[in-house]
Amino acid sequence: MTSFLTHRARVHDTTLPAYRRHSALRTCVTEFAPYGFRATYHHLTLSARMPRLLEADPESLVRAVEELHEARQLWLARAEEYAARRRAEKRAGRRSVAEPAWWNRSWQPDHVWLHDPFLHPTLSLPDYVRRQNALMDGAELPGCPACGEEGPVVWVSTVIDRAGLCRSCARVLVPCPCVRRHRFEPEPRVGWSRTWRREHMTGDGGPNPHWPAHLGTARIERLTVHDGPYPRL
Ligand SMILES: [Zn+2]
Ligand SMILES: [Zn+2]
Repeated sequence: MTSFLTHRARVHDTTLPAYRRHSALRTCVTEFAPYGFRATYHHLTLSARMPRLLEADPESLVRAVEELHEARQLWLARAEEYAARRRAEKRAGRRSVAEPAWWNRSWQPDHVWLHDPFLHPTLSLPDYVRRQNALMDGAELPGCPACGEEGPVVWVSTVIDRAGLCRSCARVLVPCPCVRRHRFEPEPRVGWSRTWRREHMTGDGGPNPHWPAHLGTARIERLTVHDGPYPRL
């Protein structure tokens, strides 16, 4: 059994204390995280309604790992197909890849999700994977490639010019005209430990109305540009 499946079984194990099941969920997210580790964890806290005190609803951990598992199955099936096609292409003498798979790109226009866990699409993880798979297969889907938002972009200054970001998920939709790949981050930066402890959630698994203060488009409008090498996350 893979590490993901072993740890998924631990999340389901009701004989374990909630903190151990939570730690097993963490391992699953390190293995598969379509929005990046932090943003995927944040997404799951909301979609599975994980309360601040896990003991209040340990079954929320099961809902979280099952959403992740369903998305991972969809991704695995596509990744296997992709690998088989690549092998066939290599045998036919075609070595170069026209377009890397969405899970394999070295730089993503949605990099902001790595720096701000509160920004990511609102799609469920299976829906996000389905959308990315469909785009890779050449489907023409309207709106932001990541989330489908069709509203106007939010312009964020890059000091010398500006970039247009999706107003829903902050993916870069209109790159800055210069060749640099700017990194956008919230100001002040988000400490990970508060998100990990689910301070953005209430005791019964709803969103905390007091922290963080800005979400959605209001949050994206407040992003600032930080250049320099990407920190490894
Ligand atoms: Zn978007
Ligand atoms: Zn620029």
